[in-house]
Amino acid sequence: MKIDNTFGIETQCRELITYDSEDALREALNRIRSQYKGLPLLHIGCGSNLLFINDYNGIILKSSIKGVNIKEETENEVLAEVGAGEICDEFIAYAIQRGWYGMENLSLIPGQIGAAAVQNIGAYGVEVCNVIEEVHGICLADSSERTWMRDECQYGYRQSIFKGALWGKYAITRVTFRLSKHFKPKLQYGGLVKAIEEAGFKESTLSAENLRQIIIGIRRSKLPDPKEQGNAGSFFKNPVVAKEKADLLLSKYPGMPNYPADGGKVKLAAGWLIEQAGWKGKSLGPAAVHDRQALVLVNKDGATGRDILRLCEAIRKDIAYKFGIELEPEVNFIETH
Ligand SMILES: Cc1cc2nc3c(=O)[nH]c(=O)nc-3n(C[C@H](O)[C@H](O)[C@H](O)COP(=O)(O)OP(=O)(O)OC[C@H]3O[C@@H](n4cnc5c(N)ncnc54)[C@H](O)[C@@H]3O)c2cc1C
Repeated sequence: MKIDNTFGIETQCRELITYDSEDALREALNRIRSQYKGLPLLHIGCGSNLLFINDYNGIILKSSIKGVNIKEETENEVLAEVGAGEICDEFIAYAIQRGWYGMENLSLIPGQIGAAAVQNIGAYGVEVCNVIEEVHGICLADSSERTWMRDECQYGYRQSIFKGALWGKYAITRVTFRLSKHFKPKLQYGGLVKAIEEAGFKESTLSAENLRQIIIGIRRSKLPDPKEQGNAGSFFKNPVVAKEKADLLLSKYPGMPNYPADGGKVKLAAGWLIEQAGWKGKSLGPAAVHDRQALVLVNKDGATGRDILRLCEAIRKDIAYKFGIELEPEVNFIETH
């Protein structure tokens, strides 16, 4: 069966099972254990952060658990539990309509709610872990249930326990968000203040919906639409380096973007490094670096997972040679034998 992915890579699996409730998931897991013993099992969302290197010789699970359940509500905030199969951006639009705030900056990031909690999606100075209260999941091996409070999820930059020690072990079925009823825009991220002024707004009069639309506009102008050109968003993580390393590079490249990170380290812009190394707009066979955003690798013309991987490795090697920096992919590579 064909697996949908935003890279637009043709890939098949033995069986793709979509379930719409926790009971249906348990039933599916029972069947998988008896029918497909020993075959690999992978849970996906919309496939917008996956690179299939080859056909997946196993079973794919996908959630279509929907619904928003208000667990608690005060005059200041709401605890909303959301089905993992909901589309994240649709929930953000719904939350803004209801007067629940905190996720506006994450507007238009593709993918499902469950994946957002796995990936700790982030944009414009906000990470989804800022508003996650708890995450609920079912163990793929024995169907037992578990809830993780935010502090147990080991959230970091595009990182979580679900991407780390527990990768591939649980299906996330529900995520609870703590959202505020008071809109406090987060505009620290460089381009936002300017974009808001250009759109004719002031911070004092800006609504959450205005902010959402401005962010959607910026994203549409910068990022390729996967429907038109296959891609998975930022292909590499922004590298975090020791201050001494950043100072050394800054003495050679004074214009290099750099941002303070935890532990006195410095975060650099992977896109800037790739562009500086001359890769922007370059192709390697049917895989290419996007011509407006060097951090995005695109499927130009019927690329396979291996074509994208070849381009990824060529870029990593070049960046290591030119800057002494190891770029780490943000995209999840999936390969079976
Ligand atoms: C154009 C574009 C722009 C993007 N911009 C951003 C951005 O600004 N910021 C950002 O952070 N990301 C961005 N991304 C990446 C992507 O949107 C996120 O990583 C998103 O969370 C992936 O969601 P998905 O449903 O497609 O998950 P998938 O890509 O299908 O899966 C991602 C990971 O989550 C796991 N997973 C998915 N669902 C579940 C579940 N229910 N239970 C257990 N594990 C699960 C999968 O095994 C996999 O490891 C962008 C992608 C694209 C294509």
